[in-house]
Amino acid sequence: MSSPITIYGLTAVPASATVLLTETPAYPRLHAHPDPIPITETPIPTTALAQRINTYAQTHLPEETYNHCLRVYHYGLAIKKHRFPFPDWAFTDESYFLACLLHDIGTTETNLHATRLSFEFFGGILALRVLQQSQTIDDDSDSGNGSGSAAIAPQEQAESVAEAIIRHQDLCQVGKISALGQLLQLATIFDNTGSYADLVHPDTIKDVCAHFPRHHWSGCFAATIRRENGLKPWAHTTALGEEAFPAKVLGNTLMEPYE
Ligand code: ZN
Repeated sequence: MSSPITIYGLTAVPASATVLLTETPAYPRLHAHPDPIPITETPIPTTALAQRINTYAQTHLPEETYNHCLRVYHYGLAIKKHRFPFPDWAFTDESYFLACLLHDIGTTETNLHATRLSFEFFGGILALRVLQQSQTIDDDSDSGNGSGSAAIAPQEQAESVAEAIIRHQDLCQVGKISALGQLLQLATIFDNTGSYADLVHPDTIKDVCAHFPRHHWSGCFAATIRRENGLKPWAHTTALGEEAFPAKVLGNTLMEPYE
């Protein structure tokens, strides 16, 4: 009944967060303030595919990065419930979960050194492969987890996730982006810099951080930015400002109480 465009989050929406949040008649602000949304209201999908990718992310990501991915999942769904309760934003939680878990897969020490590509580009390409192969490509032994075709993402879903990962730091003022990509941008920027604080209730932040602690995430991520830009001075992350972006991450006052 729903088209792949809708369920996988490929609806085109304004790329500019300002245009999206303040100047788009199709997405009016229905409520002035967000309600608290505990993580029990934004549960992790239980599908075989979600479980397989969750295991993959847990195995490959440092705990600090894995927790960031889960915070981005819960914050993103809280933002979606509050600000985008519209039919063309009705993509599946599973699609968003996959994008959240894999969005920083390119930042691991192994993957930073495996390629000359910017981390989001390599991460998107790797995600495309991991999502469409039930056996993961590299060092994994047979985990027996979610075996069979049920644990493989359909091509259109895998491509939507890869697209969102590749563009998750592409903060444009002009043009369009997929709804899945836009939500991933909003939620990662929210966790990393504290922007868009009015979209999430403080109690939601408290609950999310209690379950997925930051463990000094701001310093950890700022170091990763500098690490990538040092290894690859051409990296796409430099487009956010070689000094300005890590400074913004370290100056995240909204999340400071939870660091
Ligand atoms: Zn991230």
